[in-house]
Amino acid sequence: MKDLYVVADQTVAMPDAPYRARHFIDGVACDSVDGRVSDRMSPSHGVLVSEAALGGVEETETAIAAARRAFDDGRWSRLSGKDRAAILVRVADLIEANVERMAVLETLESGKPISQARGECGGAADLWRYAASLARTSKGDSHNTLGPDMLGVVLKEPIGVVSIITPWNFPFWILSQKLPFALAAGCTCVVKPSEMTPSTTAMLGEMLAEAGLPAGVCNIVLGYGNPVGSLITTHPDVDMVTFTGSTAVGKLITKSAGDTLKKVALELGGKNPQVIFPDADLDSAVDAVVFGTYFNVGQCCNSSSRIIVHEEIADDFVARVVALSRQVAFGNPMNEATQVGAIVTADHRAKIDHYVRQAVKAGAEVCLGGGPLSVPGVGAQFYQPTVIRGVTPDMAIAREEVFGPVLAVLTCRTLDEAISLANDATYGLSAGIWSENVHTCIAFARRVQAGTVWTNTWMDGFPELAFGGMKQSGQGREIGQYGFDEFLEVKSLVMRIGRTRAPWVKTPAAIPPTAGKAAAR
Ligand code: NAD
Repeated sequence: MKDLYVVADQTVAMPDAPYRARHFIDGVACDSVDGRVSDRMSPSHGVLVSEAALGGVEETETAIAAARRAFDDGRWSRLSGKDRAAILVRVADLIEANVERMAVLETLESGKPISQARGECGGAADLWRYAASLARTSKGDSHNTLGPDMLGVVLKEPIGVVSIITPWNFPFWILSQKLPFALAAGCTCVVKPSEMTPSTTAMLGEMLAEAGLPAGVCNIVLGYGNPVGSLITTHPDVDMVTFTGSTAVGKLITKSAGDTLKKVALELGGKNPQVIFPDADLDSAVDAVVFGTYFNVGQCCNSSSRIIVHEEIADDFVARVVALSRQVAFGNPMNEATQVGAIVTADHRAKIDHYVRQAVKAGAEVCLGGGPLSVPGVGAQFYQPTVIRGVTPDMAIAREEVFGPVLAVLTCRTLDEAISLANDATYGLSAGIWSENVHTCIAFARRVQAGTVWTNTWMDGFPELAFGGMKQSGQGREIGQYGFDEFLEVKSLVMRIGRTRAPWVKTPAAIPPTAGKAAAR
C-alpha cells in the first residue's frame, strides 16, 4: 500500500554472530546431553538470530530435581526477605546494564521494534525491584481476639517448586511478571520460554548467577511444549504452574496438572473491547484505539482488537482511525523510528489473513489494509494495518483472538447495548470505555466482565496493580500484592497460652457418678 508510513532502512547494527542460548540448570549454563539445538530465524530479517539448546526429558528432570532440592533444603526459602531482596535488586541492576544486548535479540527473534524491546527489557527491571520490596514486606496476620488463652497467627509460606512457562510475544516482560515474584516469595523455579524466543531468558540465567542467586533456585530449560512443557506441568515434584499463552494450551495444562493437584495460574487470550461514546475526548480515543490495535503488531493479549463505537459518531470515528493508522511507522524493527514490526511466523500471518478473508466473505467491509505487506530490503513477513467495519457479533473476527494488526468495528446505541456486546465473549481479560461522563464510565467498569478496566486510557499498567483475566482469559492474578500472594501458602497457627484446655477425655476420677449412670442408661 503506497499511502502507508513504511520504514525500510536500518539504524541499529545487527549482531556479529548468532547468540548461543544454553540451559541454566543447578547454577550452571549447559548444553543438552545429546547436543541438540534449535535455530531461530528472524521473522523480519530472515537471518539466524540464535541457536538454542533443545531440552529433552533428561535436562528437564535434572532441572526439576535441582529446584526441589534447593527448595527443600531451605537455601532460598528460609533466607530472610532482606537477603532475597538484595539479590533481586542486583538482578534488576544487571538487567539495566544489559538492555541493549537483550533488546537486539528480542527484536530479531520476535519481530518487535527495537525501541519497544528496549522499553520492555529496561522496564522489566522495575518489576524485579518491586518484587524485592514485597520480599521484605511479606507478612501474615495475627488474631488477638480469640479469647484470653488463645493466639492465632496466619503464616505465609512459599508454595514450593514453581514451573513458569512463557510465550513469544513479550518474552522477557512476561518472565519478569512471574519469576521475581515467585523468588521473592521464597519459591524455587523451573522456567521454559517459548522455543521461538529463548535468548533473553537464557541471558537472564547468566545474570542470576552473577547476582549470586544460589544454585538450583532458578533453572531454565529451553525447548518445546513437548517434552519440556508437559513434563514441568505434570511432574509430582512441582507444586505450582504459572503459564502465559494460548487458551487452548492453558486448558491442556489445567487438565494434565489435575493428576497431581498442582495449583495452576493462567494468563490466556483476550478479545478486548474499547467502547467509545459521543461525549468522549475523541482525539485521545482515536490515538488509543490505534495504539491498542497495532502495538506489538496486535500480537498482544491486551490488544483492543474490537471497538464498540456509538452509532452517532461511528462514520467520523472510523475515518479518523483509518487516517491515523496511515501515520503509524510500520516496517524494519531495527529502525529506531519503527513502531510496528513483523509477524512472528509465516503461519501466523496466514492465520491473520484467514480471519480477514472470512470476515469479508461474511459481509464485513475492509476500510484499510487487509493483506500481507512486504517491506523493501527486509522481508515479506509483515501485515498491513487493517480496519474492518460492518462486523457483526457472530463473526469469528468479533469473537476470536486474531493476534494481528486488525481492528474489528462494531456499533452500539446505548450503554446497555455496549456492555452486553462487550460481555458477549468467552474471554474477559481487559476492556475500556471513553466518555467524559463519570457515571457512564463507572457503570461500565462495574458491569463489564474483565480483569482490567481502563477508563479514558488504554493499556496503562503498574507493578502495584494486579493483572489477569476472567472467564477463559485465565485464572489467578499476576503482579501486585495479589500476584505475589499466588506464590504463597497460608498456614494457620493456633497457640494456647497456659494449661487452660479442659481435657477431652473424661477420666473416671473426673466424671461425677450421676453422669456415669446417665451415660449407661
Ligand atoms: P502457546 O500457548 O502456543 O505457547 C505458550 C508457551 O507454552 C510456549 O512456551 C510453548 O512452548 C508452551 N507450550 C506449548 N504446548 C505446551 C504443552 N502441551 N504443555 C506445556 N507447555 C506448552 O502461546 P503463544 O503462541 O506462545 O502465545 C500467544 C498466546 O499467549 C495468545 O493467545 C495470547 O493471548 C497469550 N498471551 C496472554 C497473555 C496474558 O497475560 N493474558 C500475555 C501474553 C500472551
